[in-house]
Amino acid sequence: MKEREKESIKDQEDRSLSIQYCPTCAQYIFYPRALCPHCWQGVPEWKESSGRGKVYTYTVVRKSYLPEFASRVPYIYALVELAEGIRLPSNIIDCPVEQIRIGMQVELAWVQGDFGFIPVFRRIEV
Ligand SMILES: [Zn+2]
Repeated sequence: MKEREKESIKDQEDRSLSIQYCPTCAQYIFYPRALCPHCWQGVPEWKESSGRGKVYTYTVVRKSYLPEFASRVPYIYALVELAEGIRLPSNIIDCPVEQIRIGMQVELAWVQGDFGFIPVFRRIEV
């Protein structure tokens, strides 16, 4: 394995996904905001996500009109409900498109994008 690949894997392992949390009403917030949308009193702080969740809904993209995504089809675009309760748009990787299901347990993973690492999810074998 090349040194650059080792660094890339270590970089992915060291990554975490932070999401906003309101200390006043104890609820998580997505997307990021300056003021809690639940109680309108709390100033959100950042907490590390568990990185675990389930597929809330999804679609399979089989044709892309954007040249940047043409080589990726078919791929799964999903709304993932994290254990913390927020729903995050992302992709499901390492899962054949015919096996994706609502409610499927998933965990955080990272892929290298054109402008840095992107949080995606892969299924948890149960
Ligand atoms: Zn709040």
